[in-house]
Amino acid sequence: MTTPNLIEIKNLHKYFGKNEVLKGLDIQIKKGEVVVMIGPSGSGKSTFLRTMNLLETPTKGEVYFEGTNIADKTVDVFKHRERMGMVFQQFNLFPNMTVLENLTLAPINTGKLGKDEAASVARELLEKVGLSDKAESYPQSLSGGQQQRVAIARALAMTPDVMLFDEPTSALDPEMVGEVLNVMQTLAKDGMTMVIVTHEMGFAKEVADRVIFMADGKIVETAPPKELFDDPKEARTQEFLAQIL
Ligand code: ADP
Ligand code: MG
Repeated sequence: MTTPNLIEIKNLHKYFGKNEVLKGLDIQIKKGEVVVMIGPSGSGKSTFLRTMNLLETPTKGEVYFEGTNIADKTVDVFKHRERMGMVFQQFNLFPNMTVLENLTLAPINTGKLGKDEAASVARELLEKVGLSDKAESYPQSLSGGQQQRVAIARALAMTPDVMLFDEPTSALDPEMVGEVLNVMQTLAKDGMTMVIVTHEMGFAKEVADRVIFMADGKIVETAPPKELFDDPKEARTQEFLAQIL
């Protein structure tokens, strides 16, 4: 028996005005899969992630998530978006709330958890990302790497079925990149389904099941990391890798 797709994207197009940014993407992601997306700046990677969880409305195409086409205007976007955790380059923590409050806000507000339960889940997650001692701290007192680990824990607090990461280490000082990648690697090992846009090729090689190379709004090539990095088939992929490696 084959594992069913958790996410199935069909012919996804996105225009901003007359600018076609996503030009018909087809992507399937299985439960537990770790997919890394790479590609030049402006190729549509962020737009892809944002369209996938309906922060942007697809112009055309279907986004099946757990069997439901969430691009259909009649479905409850919020209900499905809750099942997708998103981590951005800029951590976007709530500055006026403690770390613990950042983690408990969504579970409490959506009625998913009561106050005490939300707090105990939050403390477990802080332990998981190595920040048990920071529950009462405010975001601005933390380093960038710590803030990003809080952002990951906050996304996990809603027990999502997939985690989407948009260049989670790009805004960090180099010495803090490793601690964030380590947390992500642990998540992957625990079986979390993940879609990660990153320039960290070492991480991609080690952690990804599949790498998608995107350029100019299209998928150019998709392959397991070793194959894509060591033996890229498409000229466009070879060119890109030659620039960055
Ligand atoms: P990447 O993440 O690969 O660098 P983006 O998805 O951010 O690429 O951007 C792809 C293209 O879409 C760019 O030309 C960008 O200017 C355009 N774009 C992204 N977001 C918007 C928006 N909200 N409004 C208009 N154009 C946008
Ligand atoms: Mg981007």
